[in-house]
Amino acid sequence: MDKPSTALQPAQRALLLGSRLLDGVSCDAVQDWLTQAPVHTLARGQTLITMGSVHNTLFVLLSGELSVWLHASGVAGVQGLAASSDPMAMGRKEVARIVPGDSVGEQSLIDGQKANAWAVAEQESQVLAVPSEMVWQSMQSDPKIALNLLRMMSARVRNANAGLSEAMLSQQRWARDAETDALTGLHNRRWMDHHYPRTLRRHESPGRSASLLMIDLDHFKHVNDTHGHPVGDLVLCHAARCIEIALRPGDLCARYGGEEFCVLLPDVDASMASRIAQRICTTFTSTPFELATGAPLTLSVSIGVASWDQIRPLSALLAAADGALYQAKRQGRNQVVAALD
Ligand code: GH3
Ligand code: MG
Ligand code: MG
Repeated sequence: MDKPSTALQPAQRALLLGSRLLDGVSCDAVQDWLTQAPVHTLARGQTLITMGSVHNTLFVLLSGELSVWLHASGVAGVQGLAASSDPMAMGRKEVARIVPGDSVGEQSLIDGQKANAWAVAEQESQVLAVPSEMVWQSMQSDPKIALNLLRMMSARVRNANAGLSEAMLSQQRWARDAETDALTGLHNRRWMDHHYPRTLRRHESPGRSASLLMIDLDHFKHVNDTHGHPVGDLVLCHAARCIEIALRPGDLCARYGGEEFCVLLPDVDASMASRIAQRICTTFTSTPFELATGAPLTLSVSIGVASWDQIRPLSALLAAADGALYQAKRQGRNQVVAALD
């Protein structure tokens, strides 16, 4: 920082006395602030507060603009330096913008702890640096300063809480997106890998059953080749809906990959699973996809069914359903084949 001055301009004095911090505070209580506290000039990009430092000072911005950051990469960005290559760090946002009349450093002033954020000048700025002891003395002369500080801190906590809820919401959105197939809206393989084993574990008790369906669209490559990939995409969405409407809410349906879908049916034994699979087959042939011309495109699926024996792992169950699916393809498609136990 430049060599400080202690001479406040009349406009700066008016700004300070009209600030939220000194709202309603008698001029006498802050006489020292007006005559003894140093005014520093910061160049653009200059750091006023470094996270982790102890500054024992309350800063009131008199001119210019400051930004507040929780991560050094934000400060580097303001300074025109290369941002950190850490993708998490690059995602950190500016937490506050300080304009003339606002202050920074209140939290450390109150709890005596190290600064928990960076404050950096967005443009050439002037700050009044009021030493902590001076603030505490003024507070004793006029407790209104303490009340104002409380209000400011409360606003800051509310702001931080709003930021936290927003961050939690976007985290939930990311988590949901990471487990959702963007095209069909069904769950994806990642979700399946997480939820299927858990469901099987919950069914590890006598009298409980579970079955798995592996569903594959027949001659789907031909759909792409004849009508184009975008139509193929729409057909995949149509297929997802055809499967979903044949299921109960507790069934776990996912896009396994490409034009293959998986369904885990909790508490469904082998014969019931084959009946459900047959219902899905019929839904496909009886619900053609409608092309843009209005012409119907009849689709069919082949389905492999495997029932869980309470012992084998998910990988073995998948392999059994896949083997049965392969058999259904070999036998002419548009049919259900159950794996032999
Ligand atoms: P089969 O009856 O033996 O299953 O034949 P098929 O043509 O359905 O199977 P094949 O494995 O030969 O072709 C699957 C095709 O699915 C090839 C691939 O380009 C296509 N595909 C995979 N994912 C997508 C997608 O997201 N969108 C579209 N439009 N096509 C996809
Ligand atoms: Mg396939
Ligand atoms: Mg196929």
